[in-house]
Amino acid sequence: MIHDLAEKLFIDGDWRRGEGERIPVENPATGEVLGHIAAATPAEIDAAVAAARKAFRIWSRLAPAERAKALRRLGDAITTEADAMARTMTQEQGKPLNEARGEILKLAEACHFYAEEAVRIHGEIVPNTTTDIDSLVVREPIGVVGAITPWNYPAELIGWKLCGALAAGCTIVIKPAELTPFTALAIARMAEKAKIPAGVVNVLTGPGAKVGQALVEHPGVDKIAFTGSSAVGLRIQQSCPTIKRLSLELGGNCPLIVTASADLDAAVKGAVRRSFRNMGQICIAINRIYVARPIAAEFVKRLCEAADKLVIANGIDKPDADVGAMASAEPLAKTKEHLADALAKGAKLVAGGGAPRGEAFARGHFFRPTVVSDCTHAMKVMTEETFGPLVGVMAFDGLDEAIELANDTPYGLASYVYAKDMDEIRYLSGRLDYGNVAVNNVDAGIMNAPYGGRKQSGVGYEHGREGMLEYLNFKHVRIRYDEPKGR
Ligand code: NAD
Repeated sequence: MIHDLAEKLFIDGDWRRGEGERIPVENPATGEVLGHIAAATPAEIDAAVAAARKAFRIWSRLAPAERAKALRRLGDAITTEADAMARTMTQEQGKPLNEARGEILKLAEACHFYAEEAVRIHGEIVPNTTTDIDSLVVREPIGVVGAITPWNYPAELIGWKLCGALAAGCTIVIKPAELTPFTALAIARMAEKAKIPAGVVNVLTGPGAKVGQALVEHPGVDKIAFTGSSAVGLRIQQSCPTIKRLSLELGGNCPLIVTASADLDAAVKGAVRRSFRNMGQICIAINRIYVARPIAAEFVKRLCEAADKLVIANGIDKPDADVGAMASAEPLAKTKEHLADALAKGAKLVAGGGAPRGEAFARGHFFRPTVVSDCTHAMKVMTEETFGPLVGVMAFDGLDEAIELANDTPYGLASYVYAKDMDEIRYLSGRLDYGNVAVNNVDAGIMNAPYGGRKQSGVGYEHGREGMLEYLNFKHVRIRYDEPKGR
């Protein structure tokens, strides 16, 4: 699949050989170059936006049921090709094959979910002060969407934008991360297979600062849907030269609170899954854990045992491994930096702490799931997003202290609680200043509920009905009627 997609751009239903600079894409588990992408040139960017504008005139006027059918076909095509697409993702991103396949199937689920939503874009009739007037509140698609996405979930994070936008009647130009462009191009291949009309979906590859920024600045783009770091999100907000709708799904620094009433085994299982899945490269990863002091030592002991048992491998060779390689040298370096910072400031290394040994790991970006205990808020691991397989643990003495520590961050994406006491659950979930609070589970995002951050974690929502509303404008149509003549 990668061979076919290398150096290509998908513009107006055509596969064009890109004219810009070539950028290599590596397999993070082996260091092997998988292929090259072409950095889209200004002319190619203009062509993609023009194609999306032209297609918008037709797509936005199509009956919603037709858009729903197209999304269903897209979901079906993706399901059929899930194995090949997953292989592409594992090769460029590093996650184990089974995880990649699961992500591709979730992309298909998003297509099917928004196919259902496409036919439920309802309006309202609003009462007026006189009875001869109707106020219709109707919803209309915003226009052309520029979707800019990161590398950690290369399919799902495109899917939520693509499906919400297409269901609403918008068209889209996608700019995927430089590390994971082939999954995005594979999605375009599926759009072609599903006979989505030319120009409705376009994919441009290349560096964020050039191609992404060009979409932000482009007068033909009506909305930017961005997922990525808070720093780039802020830059986009500040550098947008005209008024555009923006959705910004940004970074996190997510806490887990484990109270004395918690089911300890369940809490450990949840902590391991959400701290280390995808090598911790998840915006909603648990970065820091606060445990009630009486159970802290036992929790740390069990957490370390569970972390040490996780199987690390090249995700192509061992599809059911727990974790694979990290996506690049950059998040690995940040993980090491946060670990060194914590240890220098008095934390104890209690699990992991280095690369796994063996020839299989020699050329890839591997690191063992790592736990540090006795942490404080002077340490980066407790106050900054690590985006790697490192979690810090700290004991607390009262719920108010745990809440204060958990909210002591500029971020507000996701938070987690393990507790059995209902009063504790109510108290904590009401006071955690986060867009998502998961209690006795670690799946903060599900397809049919809104998912979004607050504070420096962003604005706007994905998933659920709310995820589609981000692509719609309201229009108020106020009509005054006369009495019919000759009634
Ligand atoms: P990043 O911000 O470096 O890049 C994200 C995308 O933005 C890439 O496609 C990149 O090319 C592009 N980009 C970079 N500079 C740009 C610019 N000046 N203008 C326009 N586009 C530009 O993020 P990353 O390193 O790829 O991803 C990791 C980050 O993403 C983490 O902070 C993580 O928390 C965040 N994230 C958030 C969510 C969420 O739902 N809130 C989900 C996944 C990842």
